[in-house]
Amino acid sequence: MVKETKFYDILGVPTDCTEAQLKSAYKKGALKHHPDKNAHNPDAADKFKDLSHAYEVLSDPQRRSLYDQYGEEGLEQGGAGGGMAAEDLFAQFFGGGGGPFGGMFGGGMRETGPKKARTISHVHKVSLEDIYRGKISKLALQKSVICPKCDGRGGKEGAVKKCTGCDGRGMKTMMRQMGPMIQRFQTVCPDCQGEGEIIRDRDRCKQCNGKKTTIERKVLHVHVDRGVKPGTKIEFRGEGDQLPGVEPGDVVFEIEQKPHARFQRKDDDLFYHAEIDLLTALAGGAIHIEHLDERWLTVEITPGEVISPGEVKVIRGQGMPSYRHHDHGNLYIQFDVKFPEKITGPDDGPMTEEARQALERILPPRKVDIQPPPDAMTEDFTLDSVDPTREQARARGMAMDDDDDEMHPGAERVQCASQ
Ligand SMILES: [Zn+2]
Ligand SMILES: [Zn+2]
Repeated sequence: MVKETKFYDILGVPTDCTEAQLKSAYKKGALKHHPDKNAHNPDAADKFKDLSHAYEVLSDPQRRSLYDQYGEEGLEQGGAGGGMAAEDLFAQFFGGGGGPFGGMFGGGMRETGPKKARTISHVHKVSLEDIYRGKISKLALQKSVICPKCDGRGGKEGAVKKCTGCDGRGMKTMMRQMGPMIQRFQTVCPDCQGEGEIIRDRDRCKQCNGKKTTIERKVLHVHVDRGVKPGTKIEFRGEGDQLPGVEPGDVVFEIEQKPHARFQRKDDDLFYHAEIDLLTALAGGAIHIEHLDERWLTVEITPGEVISPGEVKVIRGQGMPSYRHHDHGNLYIQFDVKFPEKITGPDDGPMTEEARQALERILPPRKVDIQPPPDAMTEDFTLDSVDPTREQARARGMAMDDDDDEMHPGAERVQCASQ
């Protein structure tokens, strides 16, 4: 007569059931209630845990007899501590290597198709010149390939045996007795070091040392097409790592465009900053732009057309080649007009009357938008240059105003005077 029947009830077995009955009851229940199959039923997770716990206790003869005699209480006193996580038990039961359903329920829940080695991804940085002209980059990579000597077996034909210690799984459940309780834990199989296979040393492949793969250097020819856009991915299917029993991986190169000293690119258009002096802006001249294919563009500025500071002009068809079309984008030029710092007369003196009159003759007449009304009171001022140090100090709230006098009146005055 058993003290409690709870665990038997959870599994739906009689109290005098055999170990085989227990096993099949757990199998059926665990598959039905596994959380991965019951995403919309939160109760299933609890049920799954209960099943696992019940099975864990009853499948262990020592603990089953404790439970039969004393019930759950007896287990706690006996220190049921080494309980295994429900997922671990499940994985152990069904031999799932990676995830809980590794291959069990087919591809439906996880990735579809056969397993594949990882993708090798590389960023390929290319200069704007190379994108303008197009090129083929030869890029070398290290990848693992199936050992050609042993064809990926790791040793002589017939010499590779499934490990009996772990039944080829690489992992093993060990038990440890601690007083009245038995602790179970999963560990890497010590017989095969987790390989799942045993090769005798003398049969081991000399080339790969039993690892089944070797490292090979492979050169790939990456076509950088004219006008290719940054972020474009160039894929080499099956050129990645080879591993035994899985599909070879891919290699993917992502095109990254290096920053350029002269040009900025936006889609198929190029942008360029040109600095010209005031005389060129007003009276014309030429600028020279070094293009991306060793050509130099000579750009005429028509006298009298006048380029304003910040003005943008365009040269059509001198941008980037348009990817897979047969035309080009535009080249936009933004002008910075460098004004002379001063116009002086002989011996660095003031501007001569003659120069002033010459300018007045050439340039459009002065135009002042805002005039005071005829009866307004007016005061006269002259302009000072702005001193950046002083402006910064003002911005920081350390203004050299009269309010500061109480602080260091003397020092402040000296400083002011010296500026
Ligand atoms: Zn093993
Ligand atoms: Zn080999």
